[in-house]
Amino acid sequence: MKARFPVPYFCASLPATNKTCHLVTLPLHPMDIYRHPTFDMACAQFDRVADLLSIEANDRDRLKYPKRALTVAVPVRMDDGRVEVFSGFRVQHHLSLGPTKGGMRYHPEVALGEVAALAMWMSWKCALTGLPYGGAKGGVACDPSRLSLTELERLTRRFTQEIISFIGPQIDIPAPDMGTNEQTMAWMMDTYSIHTGYTVPAVVTGKPVNLGGSLGRREATGRGVAFLVGRAMEAIKLKPEGTTAVVQGYGNVGAVAADSIARFGTKIIAVSDVSGGVHNAKGLDLAAVDAWIAQHRTLAGFPGGEPLTQEQLLTLKCDILVPAAMERQITAANAARLQCRILAEGANGPTTPEADAILEQRPDIFLIPDILCNAGGVVVSYFEWVQDLQSFFWDEAEIMSKLYRILENAFRQTVNTARDRKVSMRTAALSLGIQRVYEAKKKRGLFP
Ligand code: NAD
Repeated sequence: MKARFPVPYFCASLPATNKTCHLVTLPLHPMDIYRHPTFDMACAQFDRVADLLSIEANDRDRLKYPKRALTVAVPVRMDDGRVEVFSGFRVQHHLSLGPTKGGMRYHPEVALGEVAALAMWMSWKCALTGLPYGGAKGGVACDPSRLSLTELERLTRRFTQEIISFIGPQIDIPAPDMGTNEQTMAWMMDTYSIHTGYTVPAVVTGKPVNLGGSLGRREATGRGVAFLVGRAMEAIKLKPEGTTAVVQGYGNVGAVAADSIARFGTKIIAVSDVSGGVHNAKGLDLAAVDAWIAQHRTLAGFPGGEPLTQEQLLTLKCDILVPAAMERQITAANAARLQCRILAEGANGPTTPEADAILEQRPDIFLIPDILCNAGGVVVSYFEWVQDLQSFFWDEAEIMSKLYRILENAFRQTVNTARDRKVSMRTAALSLGIQRVYEAKKKRGLFP
C-alpha cells in the first residue's frame, strides 16, 4: 500500500456510546474502509499463504478483499419509547462458488472490518470443506444482554428489512453467530417471507426445527469440535481417560463442545463466559453449570468452583484447550505460557499471527485451526439449506454421519498437507481453502 495523502480515520471498533473520534493519519487505499485489527490479522494470514502458493500479484487483491458490503442504520423503538439507531453490516467476501454463507453477530464491538475478516474466514472454511458457497458475515453493534425480547425482535426485523435485497436463498444465507440464536433466525425468515409473500425457509439456516431447521444444527459446531478433538487425541496417541479440558466462552459452541468432550471421559476443569471463569480441579458439574446459567444468565457467582480470570483460564494446565468466545484471545503475551496438548479453536480467529509464530515453535501443542475446528456449524447449515430447497428432511443419524464424513476428510487433508509441505496445521488448512477459491476465480474470470 502506497501513501498518497492523509485521511481522517474514525475508529469503527469503538462502542456506539463512545463519542470520541480518533483522527490518525493513514495511507489511502480503496479498501481502507475495512481497517480493523481482526481484518489486518486475516490479511496477514492470507498474504503468508499467498506467498506459499505463489499466487500471482494480479489475483491477490481480488481474492483477499470482500466483493461487496452493506452498512445500514437500524432505527429501533425501545420499550421506554426512545428511538435508538444501531449500526448493521453484511459483507459478502466472494461470489465465485455459489451464494454466500455466514453468521449474524450481535455484540457491542461488531464493526465493518471485523465482519469482513469473519467473512473471509468463512470463504476459506467453506472451500476447505467443499461447500458450494462463498463466505459472508454480518451483524449489529449492540449488547443483546441489555435488550428485552421485544426490542431484540424489532431490531432483528428492521435489520432484515434494511438488508433484504442483499440476502436470499440464491444470494446470501445468514445463520446464527455470537449473540444470535434460533429465535433470531425465525424472525429473519419471517420478515423475509412477509416481503416475498410466501414462506422462504432456505433464506436462513439455524432456524427452529419446526420452521424448516435441521436436526442437529444447534449442536453441530460443538459436536464437530469434539469429533476433531477425538481425532487429534488419536493423532498424538493421547488416551481420553483421565484427560482434562478447559473451555473459554460457554455459549452455543463452548457448552456443546464441553458436553461432547466430557463424553470421552474427559474432565472439564474450567469454563468461562463474558462475566469471568470458574475452575474446579475435580471436574465441573456441567448440568449444574447449565442450570445456573439458565437461571442467572451468566456464570457469575456459580458455586461449584473457584472464580478465575480469562487469562488464568487460558494458561491453566490441561490436555485440551477450547477457545470458543472471541477473536484475538491467544496472543504474543500468553502463547508461550499455554499448557495444553491440543488447542481446538471453536471460536473464529482466537489466535493472532504473532501467537501463531510462537505456537509454530511448540511441537508439544497440536493445533486444530478455526476454519477446520468449527466448520461443523456451516456444514450442517448447508444440509439445512439443501433440505429446505428440496422440502425433504433427513433424520439426525443421517445428518451426523454425513457431517463426520466431511470433517474426517477435511481433517485428513489438512494433516497430510501439513506433513507434506512441512507447514503448520493453520497454514495447511488455509492453503487448501484459498487454493480452491483461487482455482475457481481463475477458471471463471474477473466477474465474480
Ligand atoms: P454465543 O453467543 O452462543 O456464546 C458466546 C460465549 O462467549 C458466551 O458465553 C459469552 O458470554 C462468551 N464471551 C463473550 N465475550 C467473551 C470474552 N471476552 N471472554 C470470555 N467469554 C466471552 O456464541 P457462539 O455462537 O457460541 O459463538 C462463539 C464463537 O464461535 C464465535 O467466535 C463464533 O464466530 C464462533 N462460531 C460459531 C458458530 C455457531 O454455529 N454458532 C459456528 C462457527 C463458529
